[in-house]
Amino acid sequence: MSDKPEKFIDENGLRLDGRRIDEIRPMKMEIGVLSRADGSCYLEWGKNKVLAAVYGPRELHPRRLQKADSVLIRYRYNMAAFSVEDRIRPGPSRRSTEISKVSREAFEPVVLTHLYPGAVIDVFAEVLQADAGTRTAAINAASVALADAGIPMKGLVSACAVGKVDGKLVLDLNKPEDNYGDADIPMAMTSDGEITLIQMDGDVTQEEFKQAIEMCKEGCRQIMEIQKETLRNKFTKLDEVDISDDEEDVDVSALVESTLESAEDDDIEDKESDSDEEEDATPESSEEDEDIDVDESHSDFEAVELVEDFEESFTDVDEEEDVSDGEDDEEKD
Ligand code: ADP
Repeated sequence: MSDKPEKFIDENGLRLDGRRIDEIRPMKMEIGVLSRADGSCYLEWGKNKVLAAVYGPRELHPRRLQKADSVLIRYRYNMAAFSVEDRIRPGPSRRSTEISKVSREAFEPVVLTHLYPGAVIDVFAEVLQADAGTRTAAINAASVALADAGIPMKGLVSACAVGKVDGKLVLDLNKPEDNYGDADIPMAMTSDGEITLIQMDGDVTQEEFKQAIEMCKEGCRQIMEIQKETLRNKFTKLDEVDISDDEEDVDVSALVESTLESAEDDDIEDKESDSDEEEDATPESSEEDEDIDVDESHSDFEAVELVEDFEESFTDVDEEEDVSDGEDDEEKD
C-alpha cells in the first residue's frame, strides 16, 4: 500500500488524480455482456471493474424460503481473489456479507416486488478490479443489469460516495482518499433523491453531513444519466411504451423504458421462470469462512447476524438443490 500523501488537494483545488472536489471518475458501462444471464452489465469506473448479472424472476427453491406476497431479492457482492494487489481469500467474508445485505436493501424500495410472489431475483456483483468505491460501483452496475433483465422498477438506483480529505468534502473517493481520508460516506439514491443506502465511516459535522448528501445527489444524477444512456443505446428502437394491465408477454425493452420513466404499480404478468437455468446461477456458499476477513472500517456492524442470514439464505438452497430436478453437476466444480 502506498504511503499517506502529504496533501490530497493542491493549491488549484485539484485532487491527486487531477479531479475537482465535486467530480466523479470517468465511468463507462456495457449491457447484455453475459448471454446466460437475464440481464447483465459491465462497468468501469476509474480503475474499478465490475460485472453484474441478474437471474430471474424465477421460482425459488426450497419453497419454504418463498415469500407469499413478494419476490425475494438476493444480492451477492464478491471481490475476485485477483481484484486487489494482495490476493483476497475466496468465498464470503464479513465485509462482502455486509455489502451484499445493504446493497440488496438499496434495491428493495424500487423493485416492484409484489409482482412476483414466491419468486426470486438473484443479483451477482463480481468485482474484477478494485480501486475504492466498489460497493457503489457494484450497485450502479446491478441497477442497469436489473433493468436489462426487464425487472419492473420504480426507477434506477445510482450510488456514489462522498469523503473528507484536507478538511474538505470530496465526491467519489479514489484509493488514497479512501485509505487515508477522514470520512467515507457511500450512498445510493433513486432518481427522486430518496436515499436507499447510506453508510458512514469516519467523522463529519452535521453541516458537512448535509452537504455530503447534496454533493452525492449531484454525483448520482450524473451517474443516472450514464445509466440511462447505456440502456437507451441498447433499446433505441423503443420510443413509445405501453404496459397495459392485460399484457400477455412481458416486453423486456418496454420494462426497461418504463423503469427509466419511473413507472409505478402496473400489473404485469409473471415472466416464465426457467428452472433449468436456475442451477447455473445458484450461488455457492463457501464452507471456508471460519477465518473471517474483518474490515475494520465497518467493525461496528452486526456482521455475525448478517453472515448467518446470508449463509442461511444460500446454504439452504444448496442443501435442497439435490431434491429439485436439474443438472447440479455444474454446481460442484
Ligand atoms: P468500497 O470498495 O466500497 O470503497 P471499502 O471502503 O471497504 O469498500 O474498501 C475500499 C477499497 O479497499 C476497496 O475498493 C479495495 O480497493 C480495497 N480493499 C477492500 N477490501 C480489501 C481486501 N480484503 N484486501 C485488499 N484490498 C481491499
